[in-house]
This record gives sequence, C-alpha cells and structure tokens, in this order.
Amino acid sequence: MAKRELRQLTVSSTIRLTTNMQRVVLSGPSLAGFPVNCASGYIKLLFMPDGVPVADVATLEGLNGGKPVMRTYTIRAFNAEHLEMTVDFVLHGCDGHSGPASRWARNCQSGDTICIAGPGDIKLVNPDGEWFFLAGDMTALPAISCNLEQLPADATGVAIIELLANSDRQQLVAPEGIEVIWVTGRDDFLSAVRNQPWPGGNVSAWCACEFSAMREIRQLLKVERAVPRERLYISSYWKQGISEEEHKVIKGQDAAKEDA
Ligand SMILES: Cc1cc2nc3c(=O)[nH]c(=O)nc-3n(C[C@H](O)[C@H](O)[C@H](O)COP(=O)(O)OP(=O)(O)OC[C@H]3O[C@@H](n4cnc5c(N)ncnc54)[C@H](O)[C@@H]3O)c2cc1C
Repeated sequence: MAKRELRQLTVSSTIRLTTNMQRVVLSGPSLAGFPVNCASGYIKLLFMPDGVPVADVATLEGLNGGKPVMRTYTIRAFNAEHLEMTVDFVLHGCDGHSGPASRWARNCQSGDTICIAGPGDIKLVNPDGEWFFLAGDMTALPAISCNLEQLPADATGVAIIELLANSDRQQLVAPEGIEVIWVTGRDDFLSAVRNQPWPGGNVSAWCACEFSAMREIRQLLKVERAVPRERLYISSYWKQGISEEEHKVIKGQDAAKEDA
C-alpha cells in the first residue's frame, strides 16, 4: 500500500450474512475521492494495541508515535454515489482465540466509527486465460466473488470454496460456464482442489487461503500443473495459530525462499 491516507468511517449497517460471516457496511464523507473501481482491493482496519478500534484519527495521537494494529480486509463492494464500502468478515475464534478484527465485526453496531487506510492493490485473476481456476477459503470469498463478477460472460472453469459450515454458502453472481464447488472443511477443500480435472488450454489461476493450505496448493499449481507465473496468483491470507503481524513475517520469509 503506497500511501497511508487515514479515513474515519461509520458503521451504517451490520448483518449476519451467513453462519460465520458478518457483513459490515462502512460509510462517511471521507470516502469522497476514494477510487471508484476499488472492489476486491484491500483496506487496513486500525486498532489500538489493546484491540480497541481506532475510532478517530485523533485517537492515534494516544499512541505517542507507536504503531496501531492493522488488519487486512477485502473491499467486497464500493458505492461511490452513497460513499459506502461493504466488507465481509469471517467470524473466527468462537473458541476464545479471536483477534481484534473478528471481535470488532461480531460486536460492532450502527453508528460505531473506525479508521481505515487504503486501498491497496487489486489482484484479480489474469483475464488472458482460456479457462479459469479459482480456489479459496472464506477469507477469500469476498475476493472470489469480485473475481467471478468481473469475468466475461462466456468464461469457463471452476471455483472451489472452503466453508466453515454448509450454512455459509452464498448466492454468487458467476458466468454460467464457471462451476462453483462448495466444500466444508480443510481436508475436503484440499482433496477437491487436488482432484479437480485439468483440461488442456491455458489456465489462469487465482487462490488465497490459510498459509499451510496455500503452500500445498502452490506446489500443485506451480510445480505439478506448471501454471506459468504470469497466470498464477496465489497468496496466504492468514495462518492458523498466529496473528496477522506474525503471519506477515512468515509470509515474507516464505516468498523470499520461493523466489530464490
Ligand atoms: C489481502 C487480504 C485480504 C483479506 N480479506 C479478508 C476478508 O475480506 N475477510 C476476512 O474475513 N478476512 C480477510 N483476510 C484475512 C484476515 O486479514 C485475517 O484473517 C486476520 O488475521 C484477521 O484478523 P483478526 O484480528 O481477527 O485475528 P488475528 O489477531 O490476526 O489472529 C488471532 C488468532 O485468530 C486466528 N485467525 C485469524 N484469521 C482466522 C480465520 N479466518 N479463521 C480462523 N482463525 C483465524 C489466527 O491464526 C490467530 O490464532 C484478508 C487477508 C489478506 C492478506
């Protein structure tokens, strides 16, 4: 993310979209001038070190030069006319191992405020493929939804999505030729990805999910299926058992090793 312009936004609505997904709509005059076509790009939500949301820019002064805690989320939709941004949060950590972002999404109410930075880059599937392979868990579902919405109407391929529960299925807008496969749980997700028939022709692949799953799928796509670099986007969005800060470090080390 090049420049960190901070914006204070207000929760205009919050609904439980599916069992484990909370949809929060954020709005505010500070979104005037926000890039119109930013859907599927990411933002950073800002929290104090104790996990309390940074409610206004002045609150940051309380950090006395220290850094806020940042959490990365996809812009699921942006309405430039109404200055509204939709963000879908996975509600993880019901076992007590939650994080500031998931906790905030679960508890926020209309009228609450929070500061964001962004938007960051948009990483859509390369449109030059003859067919498309998309895969991800629920953290990537907002980005996969955006990807499917912008594919040409005659696109063909498959999107494999790992859910936490069957009741987390959503209505997606996708080209008729893209088969959407919903699977519940990590093992079934990885089996579905591995066993997916692989027709000939140039594929464009896009995948985002948990770190360990990402590594397994990267091996499959990069090495076994030999998807060329320019038509492969693969990223980990989180790592089991560690916070986003720690994940960022491990992700950087992993990427450096991969590029070496
Ligand atoms: C580019 C990008 C876009 C993203 N977009 C979205 C999005 O639109 N929606 C979304 O929900 N997430 C998204 N994520 C993932 C999200 O940033 C992480 O899940 C983040 O760690 C959540 O922050 P937290 O404060 O809730 O938990 P943290 O404080 O980071 O972690 C606390 C604990 O929760 C665990 N944890 C974190 N995330 C999950 C999870 N999803 N399931 C189970 N355990 C988890 C951690 O392993 C850790 O043990 C995105 C990530 C990236 C890099």
